[in-house]
Amino acid sequence: MITKVITKQQKESKNLNGFTSEEIGDDHLFTGLETPMKPDAFKVSDIEKKEKIAILFEEIMNVMGLDLNDDSLKGTPERVAKMYIDEIFSGLNPANKPKVALFDNKYQYNQMLVEKNITFYSNCEHHFVPIIGKAHVAYISSGKVIGLSKLNRIVQYYAKRPQVQERLTNQIAEELKNILETEDVAVIIDAKHLCVSSRGVKDDTSSTVTSYFGGKFNNQAKIAELQNTLNY
Ligand SMILES: [Zn+2]
Repeated sequence: MITKVITKQQKESKNLNGFTSEEIGDDHLFTGLETPMKPDAFKVSDIEKKEKIAILFEEIMNVMGLDLNDDSLKGTPERVAKMYIDEIFSGLNPANKPKVALFDNKYQYNQMLVEKNITFYSNCEHHFVPIIGKAHVAYISSGKVIGLSKLNRIVQYYAKRPQVQERLTNQIAEELKNILETEDVAVIIDAKHLCVSSRGVKDDTSSTVTSYFGGKFNNQAKIAELQNTLNY
């Protein structure tokens, strides 16, 4: 009798469009708009998370054979834990979402407003290495306006998560639509993924461009106007 052994990867393949995770390799999957989080993600405090991450990161360093008694290395597990929770992944916690106040559009400015070249640093959720890019966001007021720096803060909040660029683009767009109570928003992101440039295929010249054109922006003339603005 031949017993078919189902490997862990074959079991996973059902969720990966029939491919095994090994076959998919470096090709990035995008599974949905929401960042996949466990329901109990915030039952543990940030302080506890940092303590746990420090222990686990120390274990990774130990496994790799690094000597944690070395003066240069011994603080690294705590530094990494603090950096993860307080800085580069702080956007996972809804408590850190920027508080946004809206104002009446007293100037009666009815054209597109573009906040361009917003530099952001994110991290690829498949490799945990940086994504470095620029975001351009635009909206047409539906009667309310938002403080300009808040546009930057919304980009930074969603960037500070393990990300894929498609999701980052759409999360920023959805947030702007909700806050500004309009479909008329656009987001363009041009970013370099270090998982592509510093390892793997090692392409240092390519960048990835994603866009979202909602409402009045979903129109060739508006897209051309926006692109013209970005080229100034
Ligand atoms: Zn990656």
